[in-house]
Amino acid sequence: MKVGVLAYQGSFEEHYLMMKRVLQERGGGEVIQVKRAKDLDVDAIIIPGGESTTIGMIASRLGLLEPLKEKITQGLPVMGTCAGAIMLSKDVVDAKVGKKNQPLIGSMNSSVVRNYYGRQRESFEATVDLSEIDGEKERFVFIRAPAITKVWGKARALATLNDVIVMAQEGGMLATTFHPELSGTTKVHSYFVEIAKK
Ligand code: GLN
Repeated sequence: MKVGVLAYQGSFEEHYLMMKRVLQERGGGEVIQVKRAKDLDVDAIIIPGGESTTIGMIASRLGLLEPLKEKITQGLPVMGTCAGAIMLSKDVVDAKVGKKNQPLIGSMNSSVVRNYYGRQRESFEATVDLSEIDGEKERFVFIRAPAITKVWGKARALATLNDVIVMAQEGGMLATTFHPELSGTTKVHSYFVEIAKK
């Protein structure tokens, strides 16, 4: 299995290392950094956290956004974390400024609110119940995190925190509003590999 990590900005290095570990534990595989359309020869892709407007604008400028959109629409498995979850969502608003025109993948039947938890609590740690994927609780960090406020169609919530969706899945698309790559557990990455193999 060859997994790509979109590597413009944000926590792509941490995703890269964690995915490498997970594939090694499962008997092998390759992780590559994706920057341009020619790098899209992968079996699955990760869109990391960072700043969704910036990531979208760079992807668009380098000619990656459209081919990536097409691949994901055709079934390329994708994990979007934080800014990545925003990129995947069909409906995006910012908690403060409302609707902004930003380049998105827009493949997932979900609504998100950017910067949902506000500024003063830009960053916090919380325990998330992973029973839908693993049966355990784990600590994760939320960094200027969005909220998934609605899912519909084939999309479903996999975890919530105080009734707000923090992890959702639609087929081979997995979205988290937290940063699994900055946690002590590889469970979310392992789960993604499992669904990507289906
Ligand atoms: N606040 C960022 C955005 O709206 C997301 C934060 C993150 O990815 N850690 O794009």
